[in-house]
Amino acid sequence: MVLPHFAKGEVVKGFSRGSKDLGCPTANLPEEVVNNLPKNFETGVYYGFASVDSGEVYKMVMSVGWNPFYKNEKKSMEVHILHEFEQDFYGKELRVVVLGYLRPEKNFNSLDDLIKAIRDDINQARLKLDLPEFISYKTHKFFLDK
Ligand code: ADP
Ligand code: MG
Repeated sequence: MVLPHFAKGEVVKGFSRGSKDLGCPTANLPEEVVNNLPKNFETGVYYGFASVDSGEVYKMVMSVGWNPFYKNEKKSMEVHILHEFEQDFYGKELRVVVLGYLRPEKNFNSLDDLIKAIRDDINQARLKLDLPEFISYKTHKFFLDK
């Protein structure tokens, strides 16, 4: 198995596909970081922990998908942190540890279905990340290095 997977990189602009409007902004990681994913890293929705500029460590859900900018030949990594930030953090350093897989990518028939699925992903991630096998990663050395 390829998990846990540790990654860090500068938060870059995504495609502004309206994730913020859905109440679910996703901080995008740059191409080099995506290229460092193991080859067999499946697309879909994952959960784990994340920090911004070596700050507090929060729960996150991450979507790994096909990147439309590269004609769907490359993957993208988008991280939604389960925390309300006062401000955007483009350009800051995002660290993530990816711990588990929730589901494959899906096409949704309606915006309503999509929003329900996101909510469900977030709820599942919240519960799983409280399990002792995962919670220990919150204080992992990876997040402590400045
Ligand atoms: P983009 O297409 O540029 O990625 P989004 O609508 O997905 O735009 O918004 C992402 C940005 O929102 C992130 O880069 C970050 O600066 C900001 N942001 C604010 N709160 C969060 C959060 N809880 N999780 C992730 N990103 C957040
Ligand atoms: Mg985004």
